[in-house]
Amino acid sequence: MIVFDLKCRKSHVFEAWFPDSAAFDNQAAAGKVVCPACGSTKVTKALMAPNITARRDLSSTEQKAAAAATLTLLKQVREEVEKNCDYVGDRFAEEARRIHYGETTKRNIYGEATDEQAEEMLEEGVAFGRIPWLRRDDA
Ligand SMILES: [Zn+2]
Repeated sequence: MIVFDLKCRKSHVFEAWFPDSAAFDNQAAAGKVVCPACGSTKVTKALMAPNITARRDLSSTEQKAAAAATLTLLKQVREEVEKNCDYVGDRFAEEARRIHYGETTKRNIYGEATDEQAEEMLEEGVAFGRIPWLRRDDA
């Protein structure tokens, strides 16, 4: 199972579980993925959150496989973000706000924000996602 952060066209963000990525694509294309806030079926993936659960009954081989899968997923997320988003560094909070309030061109950005900035953005209803970021040399 994989959890996706999904976003409808009115920018409501919600989570949903799918057996795999293809299942989401199929269900979304068939209009079966519905925003719980407004009922829209125009839903896209916001960001992927790997489901990391600490389970004691996993063998060390399974744990290693799970860790490797998570790492692969995080690398894919990073590549996806780097390909599709503008890097704004520590001006992330500022830029995200300007986009939110329509003061600049609407686009996808990524960068760093402090916990405090993230909380403020949440309070203001600025749409953003947080992902664990891998350094370039983790390969
Ligand atoms: Zn919605």
